[in-house]
Amino acid sequence: GLSVNDELIADLNPSQREAVLHTDGPAVVIAGPGSGKTKTLTKRAARLVQSGIAPERILLITFSRASAKEMLSRAKALDNRCQFISGGTFHATATKVINQNAHVFGADKPFTILDPEDVTEIVKRIIAPLKEGDKRNWPRASTIAKIISFAANTKLPIEEAIERKNADYLEFVDEISQTRDLFTTYKLDKGLLDYDDCLIYFAALLEDPTIGPLVRRNWSHIMVDEYQDTNALQLDIVYGLAGEQQNVLIVGDPGQSIYGFRGSAPDTMVGFIKRFPQTRVIKLETNYRSAQEIVDIVNAIDADMEIGFERTLRSNQGPSKSKPEVREVADNVAEAGAIADAIIEDKNEGGEVSNHAVLVRSMSYARRIEAEFISRQIPYRVVGGIRIDEAAHIKDLLSIARVSVNPEHEPAWLRLIQRYPRIGPKSADQIVEQLSKVTDTAEAKRILAKEEAARKTSFDGLGYALSALASSAPPADLLGNVAAIMDPFWETVWKDDWADRRKDIDAVLLIAAEHHTLDDFLTAITLDHSLEKKAAEASQKTDEKPVTISTVHGAKGLEWPTVHCPSFIRGHMPSNYAQSPEDFGEEMRIFYVAVSRAMKNLFFYKPAYDASGSFTTPSDYERLIAPYVSFERLVNQSIPVAGGAVKTNARIDMRSKLLGHVPHN
Ligand code: ATP
Ligand code: MG
Repeated sequence: GLSVNDELIADLNPSQREAVLHTDGPAVVIAGPGSGKTKTLTKRAARLVQSGIAPERILLITFSRASAKEMLSRAKALDNRCQFISGGTFHATATKVINQNAHVFGADKPFTILDPEDVTEIVKRIIAPLKEGDKRNWPRASTIAKIISFAANTKLPIEEAIERKNADYLEFVDEISQTRDLFTTYKLDKGLLDYDDCLIYFAALLEDPTIGPLVRRNWSHIMVDEYQDTNALQLDIVYGLAGEQQNVLIVGDPGQSIYGFRGSAPDTMVGFIKRFPQTRVIKLETNYRSAQEIVDIVNAIDADMEIGFERTLRSNQGPSKSKPEVREVADNVAEAGAIADAIIEDKNEGGEVSNHAVLVRSMSYARRIEAEFISRQIPYRVVGGIRIDEAAHIKDLLSIARVSVNPEHEPAWLRLIQRYPRIGPKSADQIVEQLSKVTDTAEAKRILAKEEAARKTSFDGLGYALSALASSAPPADLLGNVAAIMDPFWETVWKDDWADRRKDIDAVLLIAAEHHTLDDFLTAITLDHSLEKKAAEASQKTDEKPVTISTVHGAKGLEWPTVHCPSFIRGHMPSNYAQSPEDFGEEMRIFYVAVSRAMKNLFFYKPAYDASGSFTTPSDYERLIAPYVSFERLVNQSIPVAGGAVKTNARIDMRSKLLGHVPHN
């Protein structure tokens, strides 16, 4: 019969087998969507374990924490020992190693991780004095932060980064460089790391002639999924991890490179091959995910993109029952209705709603659909789009925890101080209402004193909350105590929807329960925003597995039997954001990722009118896919709002038109 290893590869095609059986030295699997790259990577991990490599010594770098978990649970099903494989994102791996070795950087406690919002806050404070008296039109703090980050990730000088990101601001090259230096000093002084520093410090550890070999000793085999989304800094890390053995296997698809804003580009896989000239290149050409009709579209887009790797995918799934469709609808309301109809129809025929995904380029296009799902009671989860202000209560809880582990975390203090003594518009209205009724000043004084006392109580609460954290109890208990103390105050801050928000807090406590220390928990939740999404998910009460609403970015590597692409119009696909030829290249790859998530059914929706009632313009990709789709006009109950304002000086006199004459007064 088959040996253990043979069984592992029995269902693979020859190229996939080659990748799984590859043992030592650098290798790259470069292939289109659905060709089994991730499956192959998982099997190779299992195969290394079966061949006697200690699972901890295998490092599996993935695009999100969720994908690491998913791959490890699949590997575990193949071989139980695989659960001990080291895995995670670049950032999580980096932070773990940096904090295990904080002493190397002269730090006496673990570094605290800053999220991008905190970075912008600090940059804002750094540039304030530089801007003073300067009459020029300064870039915003968030723009400066993005330029500094782009330069770090691409390893470009500031000047070139500005040129590539926002050439209008070239005159600020000195100021931005100065800001970067001040920001760097600031973080060094306070034991803070932003996302980019995680990579920079990790690369520095690996490059050091004494420390590098000691860090590398932890792992014997490195694997990276979704390599096309890495940047120059991450290539340094991969190179640093590889050491002399160079046991690195990466997989990716240049056609799916969609993180240009973080400094990745389709040619990053070529960059790998250049850095590791001995690389064995393996290509996969069979698509196991999608029906032939969908693969036809994937190939058509691919051919148009000219990413420099000749390839044509063949589906092994055969034809599907349904041809991909462009569904013409009146407007966003009709579109949302049509998507809900399709899901419910499928459900009535015995299908599962979780077989459906709605993929959007930007989350603002999903609001109408969410509302429709709520009113039609279709369970759904949203991936990749929770707005930070919607999660303000979560951030408040985290800020309290952050200042307790690192009192030098100024953005967290700032957030707390600004929130707590604040009189929001609602309380202001209430106070004003009370004050407007007073008959003498003594009474007004009493009201104001009471108000001050109430606000002082909230500060006291904060004080109690901080002392509640000064203990070594498990993080879930600590945060639970904080939440209990803050609860009455938060309830007054979010009067309208506190019951819902409270559920999010409970979900955060569940996540905290997965960690042993407050530090670990904070690092994990700061690095992986999907934890916030998970919080939102866990707060949904239903047993039915939900429909997924996701950004295309959040749908990376995933697949669903039915994919709905709403607002297949110019402005959304491709996005309005796209300006440069590079941007348009990236939009096309985003479209490519969206289409290639579908297994059986693929539906595009094309509203005739937008939200303002103006005619929409067809997507730039419509002609490309037209030969492979059928166009259907959906009749929907909702009445289209046609037209939009006309630009003319002509006037219509309705009075004379309707009355037949202008009446004399
Ligand atoms: P993407 O580029 O979108 O990340 P991928 O190349 O990583 O895609 P996988 O997700 O690994 O592709 O595989 C796509 C689907 O095809 C999965 O459902 C997987 O289980 C299936 N598959 C892959 N290879 C085979 C095979 N040899 N036999 C049967 N099914 C396979
Ligand atoms: Mg994959």
